[in-house]
Amino acid sequence: MTAHVFSLVFIAFLVLSTLLQLWLKTRHLRHVLAHRAAVPADFASQIELDAHQKAADYTAAKMRFARISIAWEALLLAAFTLGGGIGWLDATARELAGTGIWAGLALIAGLTLVNGVLSLPFSLYATFVLEARFGFNKVTPAVFVTDMVKSTLLGAALGLPLIALILWLMEASGSLWWLYAWAVWVAFGLAVMAIYPTFIAPLFNKFTPLADATLKQRIDALLNKCGFASNGVFVMDGSKRSSHGNAYFTGFGKTKRIVFFDTLVERLTPLEVEAVLAHELGHYKRKHIIKRMATMYGLGLLTMALLGYIKDTSWFYAGLGVAVPSTAAALILFFLALPVFTFPFGWIASRGSRKHEYEADEYAAEVSDGSALISGLVKLYRDNAATLTPDPLHSLFYDSHPPAALRIAALRGQGRG
Ligand SMILES: [Zn+2]
Repeated sequence: MTAHVFSLVFIAFLVLSTLLQLWLKTRHLRHVLAHRAAVPADFASQIELDAHQKAADYTAAKMRFARISIAWEALLLAAFTLGGGIGWLDATARELAGTGIWAGLALIAGLTLVNGVLSLPFSLYATFVLEARFGFNKVTPAVFVTDMVKSTLLGAALGLPLIALILWLMEASGSLWWLYAWAVWVAFGLAVMAIYPTFIAPLFNKFTPLADATLKQRIDALLNKCGFASNGVFVMDGSKRSSHGNAYFTGFGKTKRIVFFDTLVERLTPLEVEAVLAHELGHYKRKHIIKRMATMYGLGLLTMALLGYIKDTSWFYAGLGVAVPSTAAALILFFLALPVFTFPFGWIASRGSRKHEYEADEYAAEVSDGSALISGLVKLYRDNAATLTPDPLHSLFYDSHPPAALRIAALRGQGRG
């Protein structure tokens, strides 16, 4: 491979991935607007026309915004790589910090800052204009700023030592450095998962033990029935930032917690909350979490092996606008360029995720109540203004969850709905 050929391959994939994304967003936008006039028959009894049209308008606004973000990010990526942005930042970092790990850290920190500043207008618009227009945003400017400061400090405290260690391994540990770096990344990921519920999440939200005695009883009975041990059931003040509702598990092993957004507990009946929890338990019981982690770490190993090979080539750096190869530039260029090549295959991961959602629904219908899960889900679709009429191709690529109509049809098919 020559640098020139690699540049052309990169441009071809960048154009292909960007056009594919823009096309899918446009299809979704048109499909949702074409179905705006009437509530789909399956939902006509539970969802009013107003709510359906709000969901269509919300989806359309998000798609229009997504198209601009996609185009902007493609331009930035081209400027950072082919335009010589990374090469320039790398040279500047070396001038300031000499060679070796300090220069690498300066480059990565500098790029993160530049990127953060360039994407700030987008997150401001998404939060204070788009979400606010549909009544979802609860973030005050003060919360926005504290969130940004906290996550920057947290990212620096956790990320910089990790990157320093990986840069050191890349330079000092021989030809198998990528294997050691992978092991460090896995260990780091597991450690963050272990401390997330008790040390990280509380920096951003308040968690209070579930107070509602009847709901608590119902949940404990379900946990007993499923043989599931957790380190407590908590309600999170999700309404501090958004009126979207949700439920999730966090941590693993003994630090595992069940977390409900306050908005979910307020709007769903106790039986519906139980059914939503049963769905989440289904992900554990059907071993989805372990499978996801194994896939992620397995793909991570392949990715690092590929980087191990690419780091020692010269076409890779020159092809992406960096004249003088450096360890940190290899790391950055690789992870910036990678999504351009993987996006066309994203539908494979989404399809796997949707299969798991069906399985978790099936589990919930077995141990809890399928019709309560349906009515709970319909409330969530309505209150989150999630569209009931997605474009099938857009859904194929992007949706981690099956479209509402298919998901509910599958639940009804289990004979309990
Ligand atoms: Zn799920």
